[in-house]
Amino acid sequence: MSDTKMIEEDKQAVYSGDHCLSCTSCMANCPVMAASLEYRGPKLVAPAHGRMHFSQDDYEDSLDFCSNCKSCDRACPSGVAVSTLNMLMRGEYYRHHPHSKRDDMLAHGERMAKLVSAIPFGSTFANLGTKVGGALGVLSAMGIAGQRSMPSYASKTFYRQFKDIKQPKSDKKVLFYPGCSINYNEPHIGIAFVKVMNHNGYEVLVDEGMNCCGSPLVVTGYLDEAKEHADNNVSRILKWKEQGIPVVVCCTSCSLMLRAEYAELFGEQRMEDAAENIYDAFEFLEELMSKGELKTDFKRVDKKLIYHVPCHLKTQGIGTPAVSVLKQVPGVEVELADAGCCGISGNYGFKKEKYDISMKIGEKLFERIKESTADDVICDCPTCRMQIKHGTQTDPCHPIEILEEAYR
Ligand code: SF4
Ligand code: SF4
Repeated sequence: MSDTKMIEEDKQAVYSGDHCLSCTSCMANCPVMAASLEYRGPKLVAPAHGRMHFSQDDYEDSLDFCSNCKSCDRACPSGVAVSTLNMLMRGEYYRHHPHSKRDDMLAHGERMAKLVSAIPFGSTFANLGTKVGGALGVLSAMGIAGQRSMPSYASKTFYRQFKDIKQPKSDKKVLFYPGCSINYNEPHIGIAFVKVMNHNGYEVLVDEGMNCCGSPLVVTGYLDEAKEHADNNVSRILKWKEQGIPVVVCCTSCSLMLRAEYAELFGEQRMEDAAENIYDAFEFLEELMSKGELKTDFKRVDKKLIYHVPCHLKTQGIGTPAVSVLKQVPGVEVELADAGCCGISGNYGFKKEKYDISMKIGEKLFERIKESTADDVICDCPTCRMQIKHGTQTDPCHPIEILEEAYR
């Protein structure tokens, strides 16, 4: 028997289905249920099915429709970790059934990105390959939505660019976790974060031994691999915690995974301990602001912004710290899109059979953005930004880019 200390049983997400009151609040708030008649909905799938302990072959087919957006968890008055129960059941199913090649590819973005970044001109060839593959219908034949563009690889990863930054030495340090998206696809966001922290007197460290948070693995049913990622990342986060160095994250799905989903999925006490050392970037900056320690030597930025709050930020229960901070910048106006889930949910909207559902969910947000008079769209989640770009032909940026501009 393992000597790993577990969270007390009555606090573990895996047993939370027993608290279900059948109120249907989760169903009323599930965006997939509203967009598709094929999904039976969170109440029937997670707490009801999960509690019956059916055999491994007695799979609830419609479970495949859950996007892990976590709107149900937020709506539940009884603390049922509905989405986590779904992910645990999905993971259990795939312990005994094969994955498709498409799902293998979507789940293992980090594996592919590492290969691409290790080869000279790898990003150029890979970007060309996905464009040609898309045009020839190869990706569509694999089960990827042909309407989507796959994210492009940057020519130089964030970790490589980070090595060239000359930072001021400081006793105040943070560990920046870029996640796969910033490291391989959008390193400029990580660079903007480093500049903002340096401006505030912090030295930024990185830990290249941390790996993908595991979110794409969890949603695609690779639970055992996700546990390996969690074990490695948690050990490293705890080491930083021992040294008093907080781990700060710019991607809201990564931060949710590190600070909440590991403990919910796997129930280990050390995962909850590590979670105490994880901060969303703007949560950290807002805390500096409340202590009077945030630099306010902003230049004027005359911009009206519309902000889409990612579902995975809402689930963290920390409000909208980017709004509080950006409102301090002279000339900046921020309005909330307040139009629900964008619909993409990580790799969900890239699946051919989920594309229409994903776009239907996003309709309200797309309309809201198209009607807005804002100059720019801001959002902290990389896949939400992709969905907004796809549905509105705008070019959303991360809120940290606006703050970095204000400090220039
Ligand atoms: S996680 Fe999202 S899609 Fe899945 S059941 Fe909950 S609300 Fe519905
Ligand atoms: S919202 Fe919670 S208590 Fe209500 S039906 Fe859904 S899981 Fe059960």
